[in-house]
Amino acid sequence: MVKTAFGVIGGLARHLVLVDEPTREARLACCQACADYRASDDRCLACGCFVRIKAAITVTDCPRGKWGSIEPLPPQQQEAT
Ligand code: SF4
Repeated sequence: MVKTAFGVIGGLARHLVLVDEPTREARLACCQACADYRASDDRCLACGCFVRIKAAITVTDCPRGKWGSIEPLPPQQQEAT
């Protein structure tokens, strides 16, 4: 029972925090083509964030306005997409 509750909570948190794969890939492509991207340590020089982590999180955005945050979908809508 405890394991099931943790699984439900973990799944809900993942849907609220993480973007879908196409969004993550589009953000990464934008960053990797950006003059502020430093490939040697995968960081954005405008904000200092690690791009692979930043691109995966729903509420983050680009400090230069190249991509924005997104509203996380409720879990039932994410599963339908
Ligand atoms: S977050 Fe924005 S400014 Fe930073 S590397 Fe990505 S596109 Fe460039």
